[in-house]
Amino acid sequence: MESVYPVPAHYGDKAVFLDRDGVLNQEIGDYVYDPALFVIPPGVPGALRALKAAGYRLIVVTNQGGIDKGLFTRAQMDACHAKLEAAAPGLLDYIYYSPHHKIKTRSQLSKPNWLMLERGLHRYGCRPEHSFLVGDAARDLEAAAALGIRPILVPTLKETEHPLAAHVAADLAAAADWILQQA
Ligand SMILES: [Mg+2]
Repeated sequence: MESVYPVPAHYGDKAVFLDRDGVLNQEIGDYVYDPALFVIPPGVPGALRALKAAGYRLIVVTNQGGIDKGLFTRAQMDACHAKLEAAAPGLLDYIYYSPHHKIKTRSQLSKPNWLMLERGLHRYGCRPEHSFLVGDAARDLEAAAALGIRPILVPTLKETEHPLAAHVAADLAAAADWILQQA
């Protein structure tokens, strides 16, 4: 059966899903919503460029439950994402975020549920078996594994190893190197 999501022929069918905090910006052990604390490691733009050049869609999937908790606003989150876009212009295809928090509602969007990833696959016609996720928390890896997307763990303040991890990389740059070797 043909996909209901037509995909232009020149686009690839593979994606790298990116957790945000701890992967694209430094994990600080707390919610990041002040752009001044949204620090992008120097290796990140180059890693994104290399993956993009290899034909990967770059799709951010981030839980932002602090919005639901009233800790910060979408506008503050957007200001952080503007900083990301300025550091890596045009490289990120889409940013999915879940504003929900389990204290208020159970959402299929929030990782370890996988709806953000599923939407990304459908939006761009990507195949899970050609795709990867880079994340620093068990819930990131669980969301990817549920769809058959290979999870890569970047240890920060959370997990240093995980049985679902297809690979453990020091940072996004090292994860990108490994992804590019798999092709
Ligand atoms: Mg994270």
